Amino acid sequence: MRILVLNSGSSSVKYKFFDTSRHLCLAEGQVERVGLSGSLLHHKRIDGDRIRTGVEAIDHGQAIETVIAVLMSANHGVISNRKEIEAVGHRVAHGGEKLTESVLVTEEVRQSIRDCIELAPLHNPHNLRGIDACRQLLPDVPQVAVFDTAFHHTIPPAAYVYAVPYILYRRYGIRRYGFHGTSHRYVAGRTADLIGKPLTSLNLITCHLGNGCSVAAIKGGRSIDTSMGFTPLEGLVMGTRCGDIDPALILYVMSKENLRIAEATAMLNKHSGLAGISGISSDMREIENRARQGEERAKLALDIFTYRIKKYIGAYTAAMGGVDAITFTGGIGSNSPTVRARSIEGLGFLGIELDSRKNQEAAGVDCEISSSASKTRVYTVLTNEELVIALDTERIVSSLEHQRR
Ligand code: ADP
Repeated sequence: MRILVLNSGSSSVKYKFFDTSRHLCLAEGQVERVGLSGSLLHHKRIDGDRIRTGVEAIDHGQAIETVIAVLMSANHGVISNRKEIEAVGHRVAHGGEKLTESVLVTEEVRQSIRDCIELAPLHNPHNLRGIDACRQLLPDVPQVAVFDTAFHHTIPPAAYVYAVPYILYRRYGIRRYGFHGTSHRYVAGRTADLIGKPLTSLNLITCHLGNGCSVAAIKGGRSIDTSMGFTPLEGLVMGTRCGDIDPALILYVMSKENLRIAEATAMLNKHSGLAGISGISSDMREIENRARQGEERAKLALDIFTYRIKKYIGAYTAAMGGVDAITFTGGIGSNSPTVRARSIEGLGFLGIELDSRKNQEAAGVDCEISSSASKTRVYTVLTNEELVIALDTERIVSSLEHQRR
């Protein structure tokens, strides 16, 4: 099936166009600066042909129209007619407690996504704009929503209820939801393939380390805990987000610095993490370079970042009563031997040990990086959330067609 996968953000629309029968991405790209002046289209075809050009994209509708046009273009396209787009899969940030698996988009589903806007004000409105634009541009094409939160719906109450007045959970849905679920799900499946055992028989820890970072404990293929919480701010140190902190410090700083809610929110989300500690950059490559040059704050940022990962690995090993494999993914997890080594360092007592040569050489490939003596295997895997979205979309649309026949 030919499926367009869309990730509609606040000022960008990212896309991949799949032929799912071959698990092949035929073309991909993004429209940047949607709704702003100087919008840009980056487009790459499977044969290496690529373009970067200025486009008009005053809203998500126009951006998606541009995507469809380039997919059909004579010089850079992969289809000749928009009818060749058989379905659209949308990445949606928050499904709340109701949308716990990928679904065909209906009126009711749109309303439920809208109901979750309060929980994900920075993402769900834009995701919904992408869905609505496709309904206009491709009215006869089925659309599927795949939620970042869905994979974590199996987390038990002991891990998702916060120790604040329980009424807040009832009244406002305040609980751990977890994010990056599509990535954790893909990486867990891929790790089981690499081990050669069924996912249902394994205890896995998956570490998604990109600009946003999260860890998940996956027991028998089901997420039982994850480090991101009510929002994607909790847990690991990230590029610009603080991760775990004492909540009282927020109130203290707000009162000392006379901060408004919006300013405190920006401090925690945009000016913290690697950028906030180092004062240099949110980009791990830059942090590693400067740490190598002996810059103290860059070294500290790297120390805090990897120490936090190690603590979560310890905690989730305990939560699952042991771990068969740990997998690193995301831009940092797939490419940084330093971060992987520092996060695993000293875990020999748990039977977790890297092969330093394998770790050093592994970049941008799926492979094992643990030593032959390590009881727990360690892997690095390239995540592929869009493929999961495409395959979920195909499954749901095919079963719909099956029912219709
Ligand atoms: P996003 O979460 O936006 O999808 P990515 O998964 O692409 O982001 O991850 C971006 C992060 O990966 C950045 O911090 C970047 O510095 C880091 N990264 C990419 N390549 C390397 C590398 N070779 N070594 C260390 N970090 C890297």
